[in-house]
Amino acid sequence: MKSWAQVHLPVAQLSQPLPQLFLTDSKTTHKQSLAKKEIYRMYVCGITPYDATHLGHAATYLTFDLINRYLQASGSQVKYVQNITDIDDPLLERAHRDNVDWQTLATSQIDLFRGDMLNLRVLPPQHYIGAVEAIDLVSESVSALDAAGSIYAVGDDLFFRNYRSSEFGNLSHLKKEEMKEIFSQRGGNPDLVGKEDPLDCLVWMAQRPNEPGWPSVHGIGRPGWHIECTAIALKYLEPVASQDTCIDIQGGGSDLIFPHHEMCASQARVLTGKELAATYVHSAMIGLDGEKMSKSKGNLVFVSTLINQGVDPMVIRFALMSQHYRLDRMWSDSLLHAATENVAQIRNALALTEVAPTTEVVAQIALALSDDLDTPKAIAAVQAWAQRSMKGSSGGRVQELTVALDALLGLAL
Ligand code: ZN
Repeated sequence: MKSWAQVHLPVAQLSQPLPQLFLTDSKTTHKQSLAKKEIYRMYVCGITPYDATHLGHAATYLTFDLINRYLQASGSQVKYVQNITDIDDPLLERAHRDNVDWQTLATSQIDLFRGDMLNLRVLPPQHYIGAVEAIDLVSESVSALDAAGSIYAVGDDLFFRNYRSSEFGNLSHLKKEEMKEIFSQRGGNPDLVGKEDPLDCLVWMAQRPNEPGWPSVHGIGRPGWHIECTAIALKYLEPVASQDTCIDIQGGGSDLIFPHHEMCASQARVLTGKELAATYVHSAMIGLDGEKMSKSKGNLVFVSTLINQGVDPMVIRFALMSQHYRLDRMWSDSLLHAATENVAQIRNALALTEVAPTTEVVAQIALALSDDLDTPKAIAAVQAWAQRSMKGSSGGRVQELTVALDALLGLAL
């Protein structure tokens, strides 16, 4: 599938090499440094295109954009793959509810998502892969799992034997009862009669009446969600046999830790004999005015709505980065208002002919980002610089800072 258009990425002018990047790994729950590499492989789970792009989506893709930018500014190459679940139950349910064709709904929301990502200056993935276009690939992965003895049928549907590995649960750190409850809330079916274990997951769903299906060696049907990501990541990121893990980073929102990423990791272990990712990174949730933001509450705030209201996308980006990605955090009018004022103040300072020294503030931004993407600290350093500049401090080079703001923070100001 066509990704969104390329976003210009300037080369940061750095007085010294960037510090090594540390990220919190959900599996170990510790901050750990990424081993220095020439090529990093990053997979980030994409949207199901029925209500793009709310601020939770935006915050997640910004988090991985910061990682992408940092690694590239360090001189490395980043292979970046993202999927789009353009066939799944929630999409069909929404299309049915709204009496629209599911493909029309998906296409419209994918277009909206691409536009939002471009407006927010998120660097596009090299491969943006839809579930529909990956059906043969997923089917091959199901066959490979079957050959490994990990597949069984319930009626015409195929399930993956998840709960056989002692490593299952290493990522989410949940007890089995907790897993069952969350699995049930997030599209699983733990109580389905005929399953060998409640936590086994669907990998191939036989065609249902009035639903689409695609031919495969497993019959006419469609892929399950988890195997879709596992198959796409393992194919398009071209893992290197000599490395300990298949890829370097698997990412998404924190609501994907379980079941989605736990199941992907379990499938990848069977398919490759290795851990899927060296580091699992998760971006926390965005709420609205003190409440969880969710489809069921009907309080989702969409990027396109804000932009249509005249909000500068760089202000949205700034506002989302003003709090740390690992904290569940709130969106509010006051946050947006503060971001608008702060961006204006920084722009005013950047427009001065004499500005405060810039080399130090660029180093402060880099150091803050290297420490688990501490964007609030990076932004505070820029704001302090703006205030010094407005008070008449001199000796800096505006261009040095504007390039760093763009290259490292994605802020074109
Ligand atoms: Zn995924």
